[in-house]
Parts: sequence; structure tokens; C-alpha cells
Amino acid sequence: MSKSGKLFVISGPSGAGKGSLWKIAVKGLEMKYSVSCTTRQPRAGELNGREYNFMSREDFQKNINAGEFLEYANVHGEFYGTLKSEVLNILNSGHNVLLEIDVQGALNVKSQIPEAILIFIAPPSIEELRKRLTGRNTEKPEIIELRLKNALHEMDLKNKYDFVIINDNINIAAEKLRKIFID
Ligand code: 5GP
Repeated sequence: MSKSGKLFVISGPSGAGKGSLWKIAVKGLEMKYSVSCTTRQPRAGELNGREYNFMSREDFQKNINAGEFLEYANVHGEFYGTLKSEVLNILNSGHNVLLEIDVQGALNVKSQIPEAILIFIAPPSIEELRKRLTGRNTEKPEIIELRLKNALHEMDLKNKYDFVIINDNINIAAEKLRKIFID
């Protein structure tokens, strides 16, 4: 696989603030975000092709069968996947690429592309994570409980990452992330 850009992979529990963090950290840097595919429903304000390529389970399965995914995983009961074409097109055009994917996906990518730089964004505590997830008001209580349970499992795998950033103060955390992108 010929590549010239760098591949950054960001993971962390839902509600750890990964999305807000990398959006601050990449400001002014040359970095392209790889849009994943998912079978989950769009949230208010999300656009097809921007946050995700939203698709039916049937279409997702077709992509699996056709070998289109670099990785895919079942996260919180829905499917999420990274298209090989999306990542390779960006890397081959010499640009850095950023994936925001779950721990299973990140470790899968690392096993295929060892040069990938894995960054784990951790919440200051599980209590803080619960507060953030509840405050977001986008998920039902049972979904929040499921996400918290998964968060504990994800936190267990953080030592497999190249970098761990605790998102306590967003500006300090974003500066640390930016440094990793630049180095
Ligand atoms: P959300 O539904 O909150 O947007 O995302 C739920 C989880 O799915 C997050 O941890 C997110 O990083 C992960 N995710 C998003 N896209 C992908 C992907 O393409 N592959 C994998 N493995 N996980 C993904």
C-alpha cells in the first residue's frame, strides 16, 4: 500500500469530547477527515456525507461483502465502518487523514497499517462522562447506560494507544493534540 500522508486515529468513549477536541486542534493544519459509514439514524443537525454516510443495514452489508471497508465494527448496536477508498485516496494524494473511530476499529487499523498514530481521548472521570452524556440530551437513558458500560471497556484498552490525552480542560487538551499532529 503506497502512502504519503500520515494516518491519525482518534478514539475514546462517547462523550469524552473527541469531536470538539480535534476540530479545535486541526485549525489551520493540513488534515482531512475520513467520513465513516454508519447504520445509525442521523442526529438533529447531522448531514449525510458530512458527519457520516448514513446507510441501511442492507447497503452496509453489501459494502462488507464487497470488501470495501478498511475496518468496521458494531458499536452500541449499530454498524460503523471506514471505507478503504476514502482513506487511501486522501493518503495517496499526500494529505494527512484523521479517523474518529472506536477502539476495535482503531486496533484493527493499527494491525494493518502499523505506522498509524493512535490517540486515545479520555474523560477526566466516568462520573464526568455520565454528566456530559446526560447533558447532551440526544440519547435515551438506556442508550446512555450502554455507552457508559462500553466506556469502561474502552478505557481498559487505552494503553494500546500511542498517546492518551485526558480531556479535562479542552484548550489544554487541544494544544496537546495539535502538537501530536504537527510533530
Ligand atoms: P456516534 O454514534 O456517537 O457518532 O459514534 C459512536 C462511536 O462509533 C464512536 O466511538 C465513534 O468513534 C465510532 N465510530 C464512528 N465511525 C466509525 C468507524 O468508521 N469505525 C468504527 N470502528 N467506529 C466508528
